[in-house]
Amino acid sequence: MSEFDLIARYFSRPTQRADVALGVGDDAAVLDMSDDRELVAAVDTIVEGVHFPVDCAPEDIGYRALAVNLSDIAAMGAEPRWMTLALTLPRADESWIARFAAGLYELADKHGVALVGGDTCKGPLVISVQILGSVERAHWLARNRAVVGDGVYVSGVPGEAAAGLALFQSRAARDANAEHLIQRFLRPEPRIALGRGLRGIASAAMDVSDGVVADLGKLCAASRCGARIDADSLPKSSAMEALFASDQCRDFALSGGDDYELLFTVPAAKEGELASHSGSILCTRIGEIVAGGGVECFSQGRKLTLARTGFDHFGDGV
Ligand code: ADP
Ligand code: MG
Repeated sequence: MSEFDLIARYFSRPTQRADVALGVGDDAAVLDMSDDRELVAAVDTIVEGVHFPVDCAPEDIGYRALAVNLSDIAAMGAEPRWMTLALTLPRADESWIARFAAGLYELADKHGVALVGGDTCKGPLVISVQILGSVERAHWLARNRAVVGDGVYVSGVPGEAAAGLALFQSRAARDANAEHLIQRFLRPEPRIALGRGLRGIASAAMDVSDGVVADLGKLCAASRCGARIDADSLPKSSAMEALFASDQCRDFALSGGDDYELLFTVPAAKEGELASHSGSILCTRIGEIVAGGGVECFSQGRKLTLARTGFDHFGDGV
């Protein structure tokens, strides 16, 4: 199969969106922007053996390639609209590509995202999705507006994805708890609706890809403040507790990556309104923003020293 057959067969689906003036097939896509909105753009690359294990199913890789990008759009409080796909493949394995496309389109359809262009070439398996979305003018969320006294919140149950990855990579037999955790790693749920709901209530927001403590550290650095979190307040995962010792569970929850939950801050005066903005998504208050810098973690009043805080591609010993 040639590169052009492959694009025609798998990546040229007619789009459902009326705002795609010109999609796949020309030199570039032409997209309708409305005047009252700002364009929100992000790109994320996933590399085999780095961001997902070599034995992942192609459907899961396709899903995940888009999920991690949608999560960035969620963190901005924006609405996803279009994506482009840069695909580097070791070979034109048609059944692999069909399954990859199925996983990608499954999530794209759920969020109304149209594939409008891309690039296809040969090489080690690397997938880059560029996501384009929009947000009401000046109503986007950012990392740099947290203020001393704001409450710190996280959505979902952080740590489950990291526990799932550990289980996926082990050869141990899998029970229902293990399957639940592995799904949390393979199929993170981008928090688009929550991000939209947080506009006008959250002071700052970001998504958790590298771990709660590490990512909160980035939010604090951007906002020029610090944070204190209570490790005991993080939501508990019964699946994780059934399979791992409590120290390990805490390490996953504080320092495990890949959850793609939202981490956000809410001014004290608005904390009462959060429930009406967060829909059915569990949001847990885990601490508060303080003066200074860095993130301190406490358990039963005692400060914790963390062995690691999160993932860093070029760091060592994180
Ligand atoms: P060009 O040489 O102009 O870059 P290409 O031959 O690379 O064009 O691509 C042809 C068309 O197919 C372009 O519209 C491009 O956006 C689209 N395309 C290429 N690869 C993909 C892909 N993996 N997914 C979606 N569209 C793609
Ligand atoms: Mg090209």
